Amino acid sequence: MSPAIDGTHDAALQSWVESANDPASDFPIQNLPFGRFRSEDDADWHIGVAIGDQVLDLRAARLIDSSDMNRLMRLLPETRRMVRQAISEGLRAGSAQQKTFRAALRAQSSVELGLPCQIGDYTDFYTSVHHATTIGKQLRPDNPLLPNYKWVPIGYHGRASSIMPSGQGFHRPHGQTKAPGQDAPTCGPCRRLDYELELGAVIARPNVLGQPIGMLEAEQHVFGVGLFNDWSARDVQAWEYQPLGPFLSKNFASTLSPWVVTLDALAPFREPFSRPEGDPEPLAYLDSPANRAQGAINIELEVWLQTQAMREAGHGGDRISQSNYRDAYWTVAQLVAHHTVNGCNLRAGDLFGSGTLSGPNPEQGGSLMELSLGGKAPVVLSNGQTRAWLEDGDTIVLRGYCAQAGFRRIGFGECRGLVLPAID
Ligand code: MN
Repeated sequence: MSPAIDGTHDAALQSWVESANDPASDFPIQNLPFGRFRSEDDADWHIGVAIGDQVLDLRAARLIDSSDMNRLMRLLPETRRMVRQAISEGLRAGSAQQKTFRAALRAQSSVELGLPCQIGDYTDFYTSVHHATTIGKQLRPDNPLLPNYKWVPIGYHGRASSIMPSGQGFHRPHGQTKAPGQDAPTCGPCRRLDYELELGAVIARPNVLGQPIGMLEAEQHVFGVGLFNDWSARDVQAWEYQPLGPFLSKNFASTLSPWVVTLDALAPFREPFSRPEGDPEPLAYLDSPANRAQGAINIELEVWLQTQAMREAGHGGDRISQSNYRDAYWTVAQLVAHHTVNGCNLRAGDLFGSGTLSGPNPEQGGSLMELSLGGKAPVVLSNGQTRAWLEDGDTIVLRGYCAQAGFRRIGFGECRGLVLPAID
């Protein structure tokens, strides 16, 4: 079952938090994404909900009695929905709780936004058939899409320890690489550094080891989604990826946005999910009527690049690609059902990366590897600079939003990361 549309999605709702009523705000009262924040005078993380340019401290607003996001995410879906309802009512124009809630507001600009929860395990999938085909062509021109792709949601176990909150920088990684003409590999700073435009789904309710989660319950185990950048060292990846898949080319840094947009908030933006004509139908454990009717989610995604020269010139950066999550080959429910079909147990706070979300057209590549054709056709930026791969001082910002006639547009905020020079 997918979350249903209810009164919290009503496009006519207005908040007494004025900034939330600005049509340009990512965080109107219909959104209410969850995250964690802390202020200078208090080292502890608090659970907050974004509303306009403010964050509502849920404990200070007396909506919950804990600051443990993972515990909140383990709540039953009905209970989580009641919390959403209570937040929505308290933030509505004319609410009797305005005074209590106002005392629990902080300006987002005045607090530190962290990772939305404690992330236990992290799995990265490969759900864009367009990305898989383009990358496959570069790695294996005769055999781009491997025969399992349309049957198995491909993934690998990533590393949670290097997932960092939005706004941080990371140093260009060192690694072992071997160019095609070389006899032996060398170790040094990565020369083909890339980003990956992804969504990160945060797991809510756990399952018991040995007990798979079926398609009908799968979405009850998902809290929501944020923006996720799976930074990648392509030269390291090309040398190390066979036969067990990515390893050090991926686990040096990943960036997650501070706000998790709940599946409840995304209810108005669901769409039918189907396979192209002639493709195999999913096996029974990856199929359900609800998944066919509304398994896809219409989320517009954008990648922005700001070079150091742009930053110094006061230039905000270029939007270098756009895609939509509706084009993914596997749905969130299918990822949950597949991950647990063998009895693997998920825990609250586990993160599922969607894999790079590229669209069907070449300019919709979700990585530089796609946009620059493996480095052969560098992207030309508006200030005349070019990029085959990321350079030191580059900032990548991911953005996302949902728009649908009859509903208020909701956004994901941003997922921002900065490339710092390699450490000698
Ligand atoms: Mn990835």
